[in-house]
Amino acid sequence: MWRIRTSTSKGLGLFATRRIPRGTRILSEQPLLSLQANQQPISILKNARALDDARRKEVLVLSGFTGRGVAWWGRWGAVLWWVVKNGWEGRGRSMKTDIGVRGMGWWKRVRMEKQILDIWRSNSFHIPLSTPLSSPSSTPSTPCSSSPSFTHALFPTIARCNHSCIPNAQANWHPALSAFNVHALRDIAAHEEICLSYLEERGEGRDARRRVLSEGYGFECACEACGWDAEGEAGEEDDGGMGHGDRDGCEGGEEEAGEGAGEGRAKRNAKAKTWESERLAMQTRLAAHQASISTPQPTSHSAAYTYSSDGTVDTIPDTPQAPARNAKDESAVQEHSPSLKLELELTRAFAHMLLAQGVRGREVASMLYRGARNNADIQEALDMERDCLGEDHGSFVERRRGVERGRLGFGIGKEG
Ligand SMILES: [Zn+2]
Repeated sequence: MWRIRTSTSKGLGLFATRRIPRGTRILSEQPLLSLQANQQPISILKNARALDDARRKEVLVLSGFTGRGVAWWGRWGAVLWWVVKNGWEGRGRSMKTDIGVRGMGWWKRVRMEKQILDIWRSNSFHIPLSTPLSSPSSTPSTPCSSSPSFTHALFPTIARCNHSCIPNAQANWHPALSAFNVHALRDIAAHEEICLSYLEERGEGRDARRRVLSEGYGFECACEACGWDAEGEAGEEDDGGMGHGDRDGCEGGEEEAGEGAGEGRAKRNAKAKTWESERLAMQTRLAAHQASISTPQPTSHSAAYTYSSDGTVDTIPDTPQAPARNAKDESAVQEHSPSLKLELELTRAFAHMLLAQGVRGREVASMLYRGARNNADIQEALDMERDCLGEDHGSFVERRRGVERGRLGFGIGKEG
């Protein structure tokens, strides 16, 4: 279904070897390396040391962004400190008996630890602890039974997936299978690159997305939604840059070679610019709304991405907040809270804007559920969630039951 091969400018990437219908489970992987919930981020070095040589090699063949500026210094400092500290602690047992670092000189060892940290930062995924998606109050669900004990993990093949701001696939943890699965968000053509988004979708404009990707992962995004700088100039001829050619082939596009290519590119650029202005207009509306309500959100929408002190990128882990509600509250919403009503309308408009731009995924499904005005919205969200998670995923099963219970889909919107 897929193979790993060189992508024009991004190193290796994952490519479809045949057409992959939406909802297909493309990959299912166990972690190669993981960080436990009670561990400090730097402990990943300890976990990496515990790997056998073969698995350590699997980690070391991946590429990692070395960080820049404060993050670069911070990482070196953290690694040096860690190695010194563990050297002291390990002095009783000879350091030379450490797995995988036998006979390695001190400096070489430090550099390898730094490399592992860089690879980890660039390739690991956040695995949310159990997240029951619906009706937490009515069903005392037991999500923890099969929750992983780790909060971040690295998967050797999934790590090969490159980024697109309009991805054609999404990765999610499957508790019952204890695996991280990649599903097709839409039909993927043969030879098309399979791309994930490294960012949580919050409707950010291009500059904000690019900044996070550049500072956190070390590349300038030139995906379908971002790569319109050169606008028909020679520099774009080969679909170059770090980006992914176009959406129907992050770098595919063979059928476009020739006369019509420039024209097609101009059209795509025009489309991407329209998307950008739609997103910025939506952010303005959201900001105006937030400013108008008495209890504004602590973070502005454009500040959705933050950096932790060790230089990693964190995203605020939820979609734009619409207060919890359920069907019976609809009239109450209208009577008592015009601002809530407006917020739900904005949430819905936001979701539909993203859908129209080709963005799909759990975040969009979640927005759709929250702002749903009719069963078509609910059905769209449900289909999307099935595509992302698979029919055998507990959260999807629970969600579908909820939708079936509430005759009108609205009854399920009680997530908190
Ligand atoms: Zn992009």
